[in-house]
Amino acid sequence: MQNGLGTLFTVSAPSGAGKTSLLEALVGRSRDLQVSVSHTTRPQRNGERDGINYHFVDRATFQAMLAEDAFLEHAEVFGNYYGTSARWVNDKLASGIDVILEIDWQGAGQVKQLLPGTQSIFILPPSRETLHERLTGRGQDDEETISRRMSQAVSEMSHYVDYDYLVVNADFEQAVEDLACIIASQRLRMSSQAARHTRLLQRLLQT
Ligand code: GDP
Ligand code: ADP
Ligand code: 5GP
Repeated sequence: MQNGLGTLFTVSAPSGAGKTSLLEALVGRSRDLQVSVSHTTRPQRNGERDGINYHFVDRATFQAMLAEDAFLEHAEVFGNYYGTSARWVNDKLASGIDVILEIDWQGAGQVKQLLPGTQSIFILPPSRETLHERLTGRGQDDEETISRRMSQAVSEMSHYVDYDYLVVNADFEQAVEDLACIIASQRLRMSSQAARHTRLLQRLLQT
């Protein structure tokens, strides 16, 4: 999405690669950049807050929203449903705010088809061992959930090739910096800058 509107970004990664913490750090130091809060039927984890991390809903509510076309995209991941509110995203983009969707590869594919200007980013962990350590170290999921997410990780990572940008989250600060560069370079594109600086361009070019 371009032409004076905000840009839409999708960020995907296997569970535990660090996307949630990276995006929190990124948004904390950026202006006009927000992460969409998804709806999910997954149970709330310790420390997660409704409306902040996710909108936690039951399956009936999710199905009703689906029937009303409330979702820009949706997918089933690890047996739970996840979806992005179409209205929230459209309102933000219309007011010039860049929006990041932290969504799985299925959702990222749907969004790219719907809105081809979307910039997609894939995040990889530096090794399988590190991924397992981060999932365990987060202390949020039981051993069975961690094993399931580890076994899904390889198939999720195989989708990296369909994305526009690739970030390896080895050093945290470096990875945040890489993400900030991607956002900044997008904002500097001619189509964005020309729309942002119409008055400057008029003044500079008038005869
Ligand atoms: P995490 O992988 O540890 O962050 O675990 P989550 O339960 O937060 O997310 C599970 C998966 O669902 C991840 O692959 C997310 O990218 C994906 N996901 C979260 N929200 C959405 C959404 O709104 N739409 C889609 N399509 N996927 C989502
Ligand atoms: P995701 O949202 O992709 O599932 P999280 O952001 O929850 O991942 O990160 C998983 C765990 O790994 C968290 O405990 C986080 O603090 C930690 N982590 C993330 N990035 C790094 C990094 N570069 N170095 C060390 N630990 C990290
Ligand atoms: P978790 O339950 O660990 O928070 O997320 C599991 C997976 O679901 C992650 O890969 C996350 O990116 C994905 N996910 C979270 N929200 C959405 C969403 O709204 N749409 C899609 N497609 N995937 C999502």
